[in-house]
Amino acid sequence: MSNNHYFQVAIIGGGISGTALLYTLARYTDIKSIALFEKYGEVGSVNTNAKSNSQTLHCGDIETNYTYEKAKKVKRTANMLEKYALQHGYGGEHIHKVTKMALGVGDEEVAYIKARYEEFVPFFPYMELWDEEALAEIEPALLEGRKEPIIAMGAKNEYSAVDFGAIAKSFVTNAEKESKKEVSVFLDTEIKAMKTRGDKTVLQCDKGEFFADFVVVDAGAHSLLLAHQMGFGEEYSCLPIGGSFFYAKKNILNSKVYTGQNPKLPFAAVHGDPDLVKDGIARFGPTALALPKLERYRASHFLDFLNSLSPDEAVLKVFYDLLKDDDIRDYIFRNFIYEIPGIRRNEFVKELKKIIPNIKADEIEFAENIGGLRPQVIDKVKKKLLLGEAKIETDIGVIFNMTPSPGATSCLGNAEVDTKLICDYLKQEFYAKKFKDELE
Ligand SMILES: Cc1cc2nc3c(=O)[nH]c(=O)nc-3n(C[C@H](O)[C@H](O)[C@H](O)COP(=O)(O)OP(=O)(O)OC[C@H]3O[C@@H](n4cnc5c(N)ncnc54)[C@H](O)[C@@H]3O)c2cc1C
Repeated sequence: MSNNHYFQVAIIGGGISGTALLYTLARYTDIKSIALFEKYGEVGSVNTNAKSNSQTLHCGDIETNYTYEKAKKVKRTANMLEKYALQHGYGGEHIHKVTKMALGVGDEEVAYIKARYEEFVPFFPYMELWDEEALAEIEPALLEGRKEPIIAMGAKNEYSAVDFGAIAKSFVTNAEKESKKEVSVFLDTEIKAMKTRGDKTVLQCDKGEFFADFVVVDAGAHSLLLAHQMGFGEEYSCLPIGGSFFYAKKNILNSKVYTGQNPKLPFAAVHGDPDLVKDGIARFGPTALALPKLERYRASHFLDFLNSLSPDEAVLKVFYDLLKDDDIRDYIFRNFIYEIPGIRRNEFVKELKKIIPNIKADEIEFAENIGGLRPQVIDKVKKKLLLGEAKIETDIGVIFNMTPSPGATSCLGNAEVDTKLICDYLKQEFYAKKFKDELE
């Protein structure tokens, strides 16, 4: 903790986005003083925590909701995170090799997975196509009681599971090891407001005022709230989507099993995998439910939600377009039911039978207080729900990031983009070769 109140760069939010940026600035630039402000007592405790997300390194190979172009983009950033983790000896500790697959069920999906495999294998040469015989050996539960044909494209020996919370903590530890740098981490410090004063941005909190030449806001769903308070990002609205999980009482799955995606639906289909932080448990999910708050399981002001959503005609048009589609309406209704105690596991198990046909309702339980919140962004100008990340750049040395899935996988790629913007603005050097040599 520093007594200094001026920094070249200040980062608001100690999730994986903010901590990855802290590490990147400390290791790959000549910027001397960097501060990170996190409102809770530890970093990586909100959506980045292993209990909040699906713990998947999204490479684009098994995510059937990604196009080939998106897969190429995420693969590059996923590789960066893998390289970082292995370089620091976290293989088997924070990042794990878990067999992964995209499962096709029924004639239509089988044909789809075969075609997708042919399209994707040149870029992901380690991928294999597994027929029923191969799957019966790899994951027998997928076959027991199965009537429809199935197939999967998958890989056995790739890093696919990550404890992003542990990685976030490691970014801070490793940033603090960089010599000749002043890296200051302020925990239990919530930035309440930001203002410009001269050529600096002032951050206000209970500990007083802090000043920075450049500020990056990586505050999850709160990023847009802070942007709106400063008069930026009025063209965006934030729709927080909670995602819950169900536990299977026994270790029913050994692999990450993703399922085929209805292209109309805005979020990835339900999947199952062994939990990294709870021994002998498989998790299924996440569900998707719009929630009127910016943070799950913690008190949060309804007015903050309203400010961040800033409902108007454009937002209502997006809701109307979503709700007029039968498939999306049904999806929203089902996901609402999955939250209702008493009926939720009987309903959710119907969806799970696509993965494990013989699974019964009494073999699963709702995972209480597990699953975070995705700050999905609505572009009010295009009147569209955006499915990936969004960035608000300003000309006053402030950036606001909104990072729903796969934001944890992409943390170093996003940090690279912001680092270049910061270095350009502050006329500091980005050690691009060192970054490339170590992380690409
Ligand atoms: C159900 C679910 C499943 C997911 N699965 C995956 C997955 O498998 N793979 C993947 O790559 N991604 C996944 N994601 C997305 C991933 O979790 C997020 O993209 C990632 O955690 C975002 O990190 P972040 O640092 O931007 O935000 P967060 O982790 O939300 O961190 C933001 C931080 O900012 C702090 N903060 C907020 N306001 C302030 C303030 N005013 N002052 C100071 N600090 C503040 C918060 O306390 C918090 O620590 C999933 C998300 C969900 C919800």
